[in-house]
Amino acid sequence: MTINPELQHKIIDGKIISGTLIEQVSQSVLALNKKGVKPTLAVILIGNDPASQVYVRNKKILCEKVGIESVEYKFDESLAESDLLSLIDVLNNDTNINGILVQFPIPSHISKQKTINRISPNKDVDGLHPINAGKLMNNIECLTPCTPQGSMIMIKSVAKDISGMNAVVLGRSNLVGKPMCQLLINSNCTVTQVHSKTRDIKSFTSNAHILVAAIGIPNFIKSDWVKKDAIIIDVGINRVKKDRNETSKTKLVGDVDFEDVIDKVSSITPVPGGVGLMTVACLMNNTLQATKAQHGF
Ligand code: NAD
Repeated sequence: MTINPELQHKIIDGKIISGTLIEQVSQSVLALNKKGVKPTLAVILIGNDPASQVYVRNKKILCEKVGIESVEYKFDESLAESDLLSLIDVLNNDTNINGILVQFPIPSHISKQKTINRISPNKDVDGLHPINAGKLMNNIECLTPCTPQGSMIMIKSVAKDISGMNAVVLGRSNLVGKPMCQLLINSNCTVTQVHSKTRDIKSFTSNAHILVAAIGIPNFIKSDWVKKDAIIIDVGINRVKKDRNETSKTKLVGDVDFEDVIDKVSSITPVPGGVGLMTVACLMNNTLQATKAQHGF
């Protein structure tokens, strides 16, 4: 993505912000190592989904960078649900394992909810277990989903006090939209959640001081949908053709039409180079927090 240098100051740079978090996590991991504790993340990958394989590889690389041990469990598509649940039980009971991550999507014969429910809430580094979701709702400290956690850090990097601001979240998934709303409410925003059934979405987005887009539709948000000087967090990751005449080459774009809105907004996260980098950094943070809690630090 080429950005006009005059507009560069508007970019909420995922590389810089995630770099700071990664550095903090690395320092804390070193401090734990000195106490004889080695944070360890178990990653379970089922099937051959190419995107999942890339995500798991990236997580492994970052684990190595911050000093977190990662243990990978790879299975083919045919893995039985009962075998997955038994493995999770073993990992739950293994005191050397501090975090458990099942890379989604998983094959359709395995229940996603049963899988999430089986992971010990203390090791639930994705923050998806109903106990962690309930704690988040009650504003009790817990492991929170990585993408909304990273998005909040990005928002707070440009606005220290967001109390009383109108925040609109597009999307209502358990992974992004719902926990995002909860984190914003817990920071005293006035939050509106819009989704595929919402009527006249523009009437909500055009009044948003903070707009978080997590719907998976390329360039959905245009400049007449956003409020002047809004803070825009673009969670969407969409692969599109590079240009109309080009069939083979693709590029990543967000849910927000970056070039269309950048003049109008005060700050915006780019895609790529934005929220995606924060998500994996927050996974490291969650593994660290889980380890500390398990050891009573
Ligand atoms: P999802 O498919 O589970 O949810 C999409 C949501 O969008 C739904 O709640 C749906 O109601 C809403 N929606 C669909 N069409 C809409 C419309 N026309 N108007 C308003 N709302 C609409 O997706 P998800 O897992 O929440 O992910 C959303 C996007 O974020 C995807 O592009 C995904 O790839 C991306 N994502 C990025 C990261 C990251 O690290 N940057 C992490 C997770 C997901």
